[in-house]
This record gives sequence, structure tokens and C-alpha cells, in this order.
Amino acid sequence: MCSGIVIKIYLMSEKIRFDSLPLSEGIQAAVKEMGFEYASPIQSEAIPFLLEGRDVIGQAQTGTGKTAAFGIPIIEHIVPFEKFVQAIILCPTRELAVQVSEEMKKLSKFTKGVWVTTVYGGDSIDRQIKSLKAGANIVVGTPGRVIDLIERRALKLNQASMVILDEADEMLDMGFREDIESILEEIPNERQTVLFSATMSKPILALTNRYLTNPKLVKVVKNEITNVNIEQLYFDVKGRAKMEVTTRLIDFYALKLVLIFCNQKKRVDEVVEELALRGYAAEGLHGDLRQSQRTQVMNRFRSGNVSFLVATDVAARGLDVENLDAVINYDIPLDEEYYVHRIGRTGRAGKFGKAFTLVVGSERNRLREIMNYTKVKIDKGVIPTFSDVVGIKKGMFIERVASTIAEGDLDLFADALSNLQHAGFSVDQIVSALVKLSMGVQKNEFGDENLEGELERQSRKYGRDERGGGGFRDRNDRGGDRDGRRGAGRFDRDSRGGGDRGGRFERGNDRDRSSAPRGPRMDREGKPYRSDENMVRMFVNIGFDEKISPANIVGAFAGESGIPGNVLGQIQIENKHTYVDVPKEYANVVLEKMAGAQIKGKRVLVEIAKPA
Ligand code: AMP
Repeated sequence: MCSGIVIKIYLMSEKIRFDSLPLSEGIQAAVKEMGFEYASPIQSEAIPFLLEGRDVIGQAQTGTGKTAAFGIPIIEHIVPFEKFVQAIILCPTRELAVQVSEEMKKLSKFTKGVWVTTVYGGDSIDRQIKSLKAGANIVVGTPGRVIDLIERRALKLNQASMVILDEADEMLDMGFREDIESILEEIPNERQTVLFSATMSKPILALTNRYLTNPKLVKVVKNEITNVNIEQLYFDVKGRAKMEVTTRLIDFYALKLVLIFCNQKKRVDEVVEELALRGYAAEGLHGDLRQSQRTQVMNRFRSGNVSFLVATDVAARGLDVENLDAVINYDIPLDEEYYVHRIGRTGRAGKFGKAFTLVVGSERNRLREIMNYTKVKIDKGVIPTFSDVVGIKKGMFIERVASTIAEGDLDLFADALSNLQHAGFSVDQIVSALVKLSMGVQKNEFGDENLEGELERQSRKYGRDERGGGGFRDRNDRGGDRDGRRGAGRFDRDSRGGGDRGGRFERGNDRDRSSAPRGPRMDREGKPYRSDENMVRMFVNIGFDEKISPANIVGAFAGESGIPGNVLGQIQIENKHTYVDVPKEYANVVLEKMAGAQIKGKRVLVEIAKPA
């Protein structure tokens, strides 16, 4: 039933031995000590151009050896013992910065006079200033902290000749564009600029057009992604049954350390809350956490003190955990690359891992796109039935009882059975009750027959509003009638989620939500879930003149981009055009997918709205 899948293995014919490359003795000694024999494809492609001093765009993800691809040429170019910053590497997260810096230190181990310093937020700036003053010639850092240090005049880039933007797509997604631009402005123009990114979105291309000169594009092509030891399955589920299916999978496969991915921050909070309500120790990881909180959460997960970590793609960057039993895609990723990134967290170091993807209705199209991209068939998994789960737990209970008896020391508890029998219970009843108590599984409203998606639901492409209560509505009544207007054609999507709550799958903890008054959803501190700063306002050149309704807009945006319709914010329709608030994390995919799209038969232009 299973197949496996996705890490990088390279064909022998493509391999180039490191010792055949024109590299210094120091680098040769370092790569030897690091155990590298052959250059990876991204290394054999990029290193020659980088040594020549060319600007390079590298399309490669983590795990391809991209750090050494840019790291080796940096070290070769450094003028040793010169105590000014000659190269700067910008990374989206502290974790990646640390990882890159460790790799740089290993690569430069045998090259004297090369000094690497790492700078990132959430750690003592004074210590970082001291280490810069000591004479770093390579700096690895996160954009925010780099800017801070430049402003404090502790970091000077006026003599730097190389700049690397690592995981540039993530940096842009995290809102670092302006910081990156200001940093690039600090560095003399006669520099070598290198950008690495897993994806090549329009904003990335815009950045390269502006800041790179005649760049060479090198990339690791997809057919180099192949399969090994990850069992990949998808589960066709009803939207409201996602949590039930998740916990059944955890129980059935006895998963101890699991990374659960969601597409949005608010979803992370919801999933953590629901897991906790069901008795699963879970923590969330998303961009709103302070660095110190992130570190604490990651450490608790790494050490196994927390079994279930729920994260967004961006927040999980740099999270490197061994022994992960499984990755669960609670939400199917919006980008195929994300899928590869996500599942690559498990099945590491020769171990086997599992990657489970929950698929709701029309998301099957996205699943197909992922399979096309990875060239791997993902098999359909069978959702464990309630009695499957009970069976597994019973088996584990019997094992635990047997080993506790074998340990001995039971005298203190010996009278418990006779006390219970005295109270009139049979041995059978007592044991059954103990088993039930120990398992912590309760039958709930999710009957086995109520979990799997139904085909007819899948055909209703636009009608789904998972958050709003499991109601499947027609495209035309997608909360988009004029009653929803506020002021001059303003619609707040969040206020329209009501629908037919209290459906068959309404869980106890959802009741609060269903009885809440209609209106924008608030977070625990009473702030709207989607504040303006998390949204990008988009302009669409179609409006009331074309008899456009919010339903048309939502239908087109969700249908074309594959994003859930209910994440959209305000829709403000004017006579000739419309403004739509799109969560930042979806902005790229919306811009890309709406290029050339039609609404009501008219080809439309969608672009980021100019500031008012
Ligand atoms: P990266 O894509 O830079 O995060 O690298 C992923 C891992 O592959 C790191 O642990 C590197 O040390 C390792 N690595 C990089 N290049 C090679 C190579 N040519 N041969 C073997 N391992 C490598």
C-alpha cells in the first residue's frame, strides 16, 4: 500500500569528485574531513561560476548542499587575516543562520585567517558586537539584526564584496524585503550578488532583476528528487473530521514525535487547542512567537518532552529534528516545494518515516500537482476505524500489564481486586474498565462512516467553507449577497463564516464558536485574527459596472489560486475596480495564479494595490 519518498539522490554520471575541482588545499582538506567526496549537482553547477565572480541565482532547497555551493567560493575569495567584513550571508531564521555558520566554520577550518560571526535577533547584541569587533570577515545573519548592527555602526559593509541571500523566498515571505534592500544599498555596487531560493516567484525575480547583474541561473532539476524511506499516504477526509482522523492516525500508528503542518497561524492555534482538548500534549510554532519562545518550544520538541508540534511552513524553517515518526499535513501545502520541504523532515539518517496528507474535496487537484511535481505516486490511506484504534491500544495495554507484572512489587496493590469484587463487580468488568481507563479513547460523534470525503462534495468546487461550520454552499450564495456589505461595498469575509454551524460533526468545543455573534473572529486577546498588517491589498480591474459580487471574487481567487476562500479579508467593490485583502502568505500564489484569469468571462488584471 505504501510507497516512499523524496530526498535527493544523484546519478553517478553527474558526479564530479571534489579533488578534481580547482580548490585550495584548505578547502580540499575541509571537504575531506567533512566526508564530501563528490560535489552535489548544485555545487558542481554553481561553484565554477561563483569562483569566476559571476552573480548567480541558485534554485535549490535545503539538503542539496547549497551552503557549501556558495560557502566554498566565499572562502576562496576572502583575503585572509583582513579584519573587515568581506562577505555577508543573509538567512531568514536564526536556526538557518546558525546552521549555515557552522557549515562555514567547518569549511574554513583549514584556511587560516577566515573568521565567521553569526548575528541574529533574540540573543545578546553586545556579544555579537564584540565578536564583530574582534575582526569577522564573514558574517552570517538575519536581516533584522543585521540592520540593527548597521545602525549602531557595529557592522560595516562598505568593503564587502560578496552578498548571499539564502532562502530568499522565505525572507520575502517573512516580510524582510525592505530590510534586504536597505542592506544591499550598504554594499558597494562592484560586489558579487548571489541569491538562493527554493522557488522562483515573481517577487524573487523582481529582486534579482533589480540587484543582480547578468546572473547565471543554476538549479537542481526535479527528477533528481527521488524516493527512499518515507511512506507517503493521503487520506480523503471531510473538512470537519480532520482532527478526528489526525488523532486516529497518531493512535493507530503509535506516533510519538510528530510534526503537524498547517497553512496559517490561526489554524496552528486551533489545532494545538483541539489536540490539547483531546489529551495530546501539543505546542504551536508560528511567526508570532518571540525568538526565545520559539527556541523553548523547539527544544521541548527535540527532547521529546512535547510529542506534537504544530507549525506553519515558515516557522518550521531550520527545524531539524531527528527521529521524527511522522509529518502530518493537516492542511495540504499550497506549494509543491513546501510538500518536499515538509516531508523531508522525517525519514532522516537512514530511518523510516511517514508522511500523511489530509485532503479535503477539491484539494485532490493540488495533491495531483504534488504528485506530478515529485514524480511520486502517493497512495490513498485507509482511515483507521474506531475498533482498529481500540485494538492497537488494547494490545499495548496488555503488553504494559505483562511487563508490570514481570517487574514485581505489586503487594501494595493486591487488595484492590478483592475490594472491587466486594463491591459486586466481576473480574471481567474490572479488567474491561481498567483497559478503557488506560486507553483514553472515547467514542465520539465521529462514526467511522463520517470521516471520509464524499465524491459529490468534491464536485462542489467553490462551495466549501470548512471553518464556517461544514456547510457546503453554492458558489453564488457564498456569503456574498449584498447584505454582507458594509459601507460602500465593503465585505468582511470573516463575518460571513456563520453558515449552518452545528452540523453533524459539531464538536463540544466548537459550540462556543457556533453561539458566538456573527462578526470578525477575534483571537484570545480580542484582536481580529487578520489584522491589516497581515494582509496585502490587491487591486482587480473589475467592479460593479461588470455586476461583480463578492462571490465572484472569492470563487475566482479560491478556484484559480487553490487557496481557501475563507482566508480572504475585506472585499471592497467600486464601480470600475475591486480591492481584495489577501493574507500575506498567499499573496505570491494569488498573483501568480490570477495572472490571465477570468472573472465573469472577462480577463482581469490583479496586482498589488498602490498605497492610498
Ligand atoms: P545544505 O543543503 O547546505 O543544507 O546541506 C545539506 C547537508 O549535506 C549538510 O549536512 C552538508 O554538510 C551535506 N553536504 C553538502 N555537500 C555535500 C557533498 N558534496 N557530499 C556530501 N554531503 C554534503
